[in-house]
Amino acid sequence: MKKIALIAHDGKKAEMVSFILQNKEYLEGYTLYATGTTGQHIENAGFKVQRLLSGPLGGDAQIATMVAEKTIDMVIFFRDPLDKHPHEPDVQMLMRLCDVHNIPLATNPASAELFLK
Ligand code: PGA
Repeated sequence: MKKIALIAHDGKKAEMVSFILQNKEYLEGYTLYATGTTGQHIENAGFKVQRLLSGPLGGDAQIATMVAEKTIDMVIFFRDPLDKHPHEPDVQMLMRLCDVHNIPLATNPASAELFLK
């Protein structure tokens, strides 16, 4: 089964929940991974998800490792461009590694929807 990593900054978590609910049928064919708090929200919405560490504690870095090892097929990362993040270096690393390893990376719902369909 293909694997997707889901990450949403705090200002984008509601958007992530509404995105997964709206695209439930497309996501059923995937194993879901998520950073800690995003994963909690996804679980609360009724999905099965493998939760990693919270982003600021290393969750983005864990997903970056999966990208580097090519054990993840797609990353959906709803970043909040209007806020600052203590783990910005990890965010940059994750996005860089997606480009290095040619792993699809969607940073907003419109692009994520295109990827899934
Ligand atoms: P979180 O991490 O899901 O644990 O909030 C996301 C992030 O801030 O990168």
